[in-house]
Amino acid sequence: MSEPLLRVNNLVKNFSIRGGWFSRMHESVHAVNQVSFEIDKGETLGLVGESGCGKSTTGRCILRLIEPTSGEVWFEGKNVTALDRASLRALCRDMQIIFQDPYASLNPRMTVGAIIGEALVIHHLAKTREEFEDRVVQLLETVGLHADHMRRYPHEFSGGQRQRIGIARALAVSPKLIVCDEPVSALDVSIQAQVINLLEDLQQQFGLTYIFIAHDLAVVAHISTRVAVMYLGKIVELATARDLYTTPLHPYTEALLSAVPIPEPKAKRKRIVLQGDVPSPIRPPSGCQFHTRCPIRKLPLCATEAPLLRESSKGHWVACHLRG
Ligand code: SF4
Repeated sequence: MSEPLLRVNNLVKNFSIRGGWFSRMHESVHAVNQVSFEIDKGETLGLVGESGCGKSTTGRCILRLIEPTSGEVWFEGKNVTALDRASLRALCRDMQIIFQDPYASLNPRMTVGAIIGEALVIHHLAKTREEFEDRVVQLLETVGLHADHMRRYPHEFSGGQRQRIGIARALAVSPKLIVCDEPVSALDVSIQAQVINLLEDLQQQFGLTYIFIAHDLAVVAHISTRVAVMYLGKIVELATARDLYTTPLHPYTEALLSAVPIPEPKAKRKRIVLQGDVPSPIRPPSGCQFHTRCPIRKLPLCATEAPLLRESSKGHWVACHLRG
């Protein structure tokens, strides 16, 4: 068995928050709670869940844009979590991110050429002005933009074009892994498909590995090799996209899937509407954290004992007392 490209072991991220306006008490938000998974080269792992489930924080902890509280991230045999700043900077060439908001993530005062080429300068990847411009033009064309776009500014582009600029910026250093943090959530549906197709083409062309973060299970299932479903900072189900889509085990996954439209008119999936809101991650429920909303919970078991993530069948993991 070859080594996975990326291995995440028991990743934890807690954020400290103040209890109130005048309170000295500090409480902890458990944003990411004992998350573990592996990704092979060329794979796409989808991370899916409702807002605030910890999926983006997981992605950022992997790149150490946010420092994890504990746990380890291994990339090509290197312990990313133990690297000093200089080594981490060198590793940034291999691991890049595409941000959700193509409007906020591009500096409005920089030309597109300067934005895309910034990393070329930082990592000394272009020796002359000519080499720099040639590479920027090549990157623009790779993502479906034009050479003359390099002298324009971000506000002159549409949302889809700006996300292409973000993708070109990530590609500039020839990374191996890209964390795609909700890259299409802010775009119109018609544009979403174009950006997803582009990401798939680039994966083929450059042998890229993706972590694809989204709240829309339909989008994630389409692009991913495997999918991890997160709830309140934990992975509750992990399986191939096909298994997850056809035979979901966790009641939360079933509820998410029931909201995904099915193309054939005859096919029907009963809509499962979960009761209540996602509980606060400051004081998550005891036992199985999903028990306050679970339509099949068994009390008192589900409210007192946290289910472990177990392998139910080959490669299909679930954290539920009653399933798997
Ligand atoms: Fe529902 Fe219990 Fe399974 Fe949690 S462990 S998902 S509450 S049945």
